Amino acid sequence: MKNFDYKKSLGQNFLIDKNIINKIVSSIKSTNKDLIIEIGPGSGALTKELVKKESDLICFEIDKRLKDELLLINSNNLKIIFEDFMKINIKDYIDKNKYNKIYFVGNLPYYITTAIINKICDESDPEEITIMIQKEVADRFTAKPKSKSYSSISVFLQYNFNIIKLCDVSKNSFIPIPKVDSAVIKLKKRKKENLNNINHFYKLIKDSFQFKRKNLRNNLRNYDLEQINKTLFKYGKSFTSRAEELTLEEFIDISNSLN
Ligand code: SAM
Repeated sequence: MKNFDYKKSLGQNFLIDKNIINKIVSSIKSTNKDLIIEIGPGSGALTKELVKKESDLICFEIDKRLKDELLLINSNNLKIIFEDFMKINIKDYIDKNKYNKIYFVGNLPYYITTAIINKICDESDPEEITIMIQKEVADRFTAKPKSKSYSSISVFLQYNFNIIKLCDVSKNSFIPIPKVDSAVIKLKKRKKENLNNINHFYKLIKDSFQFKRKNLRNNLRNYDLEQINKTLFKYGKSFTSRAEELTLEEFIDISNSLN
C-alpha cells in the first residue's frame, strides 16, 4: 500500500507472497454452512481470497485507517468490524443456529498469539485455527517430549488440538520486512481424552514445567508425590523425571490419578 504508515505496535507486516496466501486459503475446507473469522485483515491480502469461499466471513480489524481499502472488498458474505479483537466477545458475533463449524484465520502481532488462542478457546468452540506465528513459537507449539522446545504450552495445545505446520514463511514474504521468520500452523479440533478435572490438569502442567531444570519431585512438592510416582512407574518413569520427558498421555494419567 502506497504511503501507508505501517504501525509496528500493531504488527503491521502485510503478506505479499501469493504462494503463501494460496496455501493458507486453500487449506481451509469450509462449506456454506460454516463461518470463517479473520483476525487482522490488514489491507485484505487473505480477505480477498477468503471471500471467494461459500462460507460467511467476519473480519476484525483494529486500525480504522484501513477502512477505505478494506471496504473495496465488496461481497454479500463479508462483514468487516473495525474493533480490537481482544475487546469484543466472539459469542456476540456467532449465530449458533446458523453455523456448523467456525474456522479462525489470522496473521497478527506475535506478542498476542497465546492470548488470542486462549480467547478463541474460551469464547467459542473452533473447528480450526490457522495462524501465522513466529517460527520459534511454532516449534514450541508442535514440540514433542524430550525436545528443547517442549513446554507447558505444547502440552496444553496438544491436548486441545492436532497441530500441523502448514509452511515456513520467509521474512521476504512481507512488507515491510519483519525481523523474524514465521510459520503458518493449523490447530485442528481433536477428540479429547477424558479428564476428571481440566483445571487441575492445566495447573499440573504449569507447575510441572515451572522450573525447567528441576525434576517433578521438586516442581510438584505440594502434590501427592507417592501417587505420582506410582502412576509414572507404569511408564518406566518416576518423580525424578523432568516434565520435558513426559508425554501428554502420562500427564493425563497423573492428573486423573490425583483427583
Ligand atoms: N492479514 C493481513 C496480511 O496477512 O497481510 C495483515 C496482517 S498484519 C501482520 C496484522 C493486522 O492485524 C494488522 O492489520 C493490524 O492492524 C491488525 N491488528 C493488530 N492487533 C489487532 C487486534 N487486537 N484486533 C484486530 N486487529 C488487529
